[in-house]
Amino acid sequence: MAETERSIFSRIIAGEIPADVVYDSERLIAFRDIAPKAPVHLLVVPKTEEYRDVAELAAGDPELLAELVATAKHLAEEHSDGDFRLIFNTGAGAGQTVFHVHAHVMSANDRGHSLQEGTLDQL
Ligand code: AMP
Repeated sequence: MAETERSIFSRIIAGEIPADVVYDSERLIAFRDIAPKAPVHLLVVPKTEEYRDVAELAAGDPELLAELVATAKHLAEEHSDGDFRLIFNTGAGAGQTVFHVHAHVMSANDRGHSLQEGTLDQL
């Protein structure tokens, strides 16, 4: 694939762009969002860029989607109290800017900063 067509997340996965990586497995990577909208804001990203959004991933590889959700839960337990919000922006009109499927995992931190219901409209 030509350099210009690769997503920014593929470049992070390849180690070409630095990221604050918190999880790395055979098929998934997770790192802190560069512009956090919650006390804990992580992105969980399949290493393949075959799927542009969660609907494509669900249709093409439901096992990988299930692994992604299980990883989100594991990360929320590790970085917060285990409660989390999972967001998949799907389409530009819904705020998607990177067309390489990824989940936003948002949760409280361990210093008493929690999520507000109103933050749902900020992504
Ligand atoms: P979305 O708008 O759902 O496509 O989400 C893309 C997310 O990627 C945004 O929340 C950005 O802040 C985040 N983002 C973009 N570039 C980077 C980067 N280099 N490292 C970490 N997060 C990034």
